[in-house]
Amino acid sequence: MTAALKSNLGAAALMGNYARSDFSFERGEGAYLFDQTGRRFLDFACGIAVTGLGHAHPHVVKALNEQAAKLWHVSNLYQIETQIRLAERLVANSFADQAFFCNSGAEANEAMIKLARIYQDHVGAPERYRVITFENAFHGRTMATIAAGGQPKHLKGFEPVVEGFDQVPFDELDAAKRAIGPETAAILVEPVQGEGGIRPASQAFMTGLRALCDEHGLLLMLDEVQCGMGRTGKLFAYEWYDVEPDVMALAKALGNGFPVGACLAKAKVSAALVPGTHGSTFGGNLLATTVANAVLDIMLADGFLENVRRLGTLLRARLDGVAKAYPGVIESVRGMGLMLGLVCRVPARDLLTALRNHGLLTVTAEGNAVRILPPLIITERQVEESVALIEKACRELAR
Ligand SMILES: *Cc1c(COP(=O)(O)O)cnc(C)c1O
Repeated sequence: MTAALKSNLGAAALMGNYARSDFSFERGEGAYLFDQTGRRFLDFACGIAVTGLGHAHPHVVKALNEQAAKLWHVSNLYQIETQIRLAERLVANSFADQAFFCNSGAEANEAMIKLARIYQDHVGAPERYRVITFENAFHGRTMATIAAGGQPKHLKGFEPVVEGFDQVPFDELDAAKRAIGPETAAILVEPVQGEGGIRPASQAFMTGLRALCDEHGLLLMLDEVQCGMGRTGKLFAYEWYDVEPDVMALAKALGNGFPVGACLAKAKVSAALVPGTHGSTFGGNLLATTVANAVLDIMLADGFLENVRRLGTLLRARLDGVAKAYPGVIESVRGMGLMLGLVCRVPARDLLTALRNHGLLTVTAEGNAVRILPPLIITERQVEESVALIEKACRELAR
């Protein structure tokens, strides 16, 4: 029986929208996942860049347990101290003045897209509602975010497509410039494309987008749902470029697996969000914001991000070595920090399967790439362990 068939039989009550493997896990600890038989896997997928602090991080578990025994949810009808604290800390450590909380990356991007429209309306330019986005982008699966992502495979069957997005090639400044018209409100970009194949934007592109936005009165909106929260070795990827956005979306690693998203903005932008304009029932509840605060405790601690950078450099050097040794399997390595991609010469899926057989979990991306997304708490020894497994898989595939 094929794995796909087996997993469908085991889960007939689930809708068929995922191509699941038939693996399941019982327990996690740090960088490792364990299946029912006790077999150990090094988890370099991290639930798709979510469990940045690894599994069952003691500090995060403790924070969740303590809050769970006290109070989970009251709604945004009331003051929520943990939410205020999280907002203050995100603001203090970013370009932003204010935060809005939601429950996912798509919702954080929805908030950004809505902000772009209401901001332009607020400053007297209601005709500006269009958003420039980029090929290979991924912004989520709601009606507006699939339109923003613009990928035919995500849009097919879901027409009519939400109006107001103009897509141009990624990392091509002239194309973005040409797309600006009298109705343009904002530019939305991932500084490092994740699903799109771990493609970092160039410095000239990011600097150029900022300049275009300033010149034309547009908002620069960054989707850091995947590349934010320490993944690239800085808390936010935009810090590498020395380019500040006007708005930014976060989610994924912000809650280490507890669903929480955030939209951060400059005050001139968020000023448009007066009571009643936008909201979320669950957004920023006590459990979610307590967990996110615990995540920040770890990520903002002295030396944490420095260590991510150090291990990112080490892993990158090792992977470059593997690519050189097995040019028939790996064409190139790209990315930043611990957000790395192996661009494959063999089908990326074959490398993923071989790696999994050897006990290393990864995830594929567009452009025939395998994403290498280790937990940020990884040790040097675990880096070496992973490289040995990658070498083994490459040796096999090179035959
Ligand atoms: C995962 C992802 C999203 C969507 O997040 P969800 O929580 O699945 O809605 C949006 N943007 C980027 C860059 C992502 O990687």
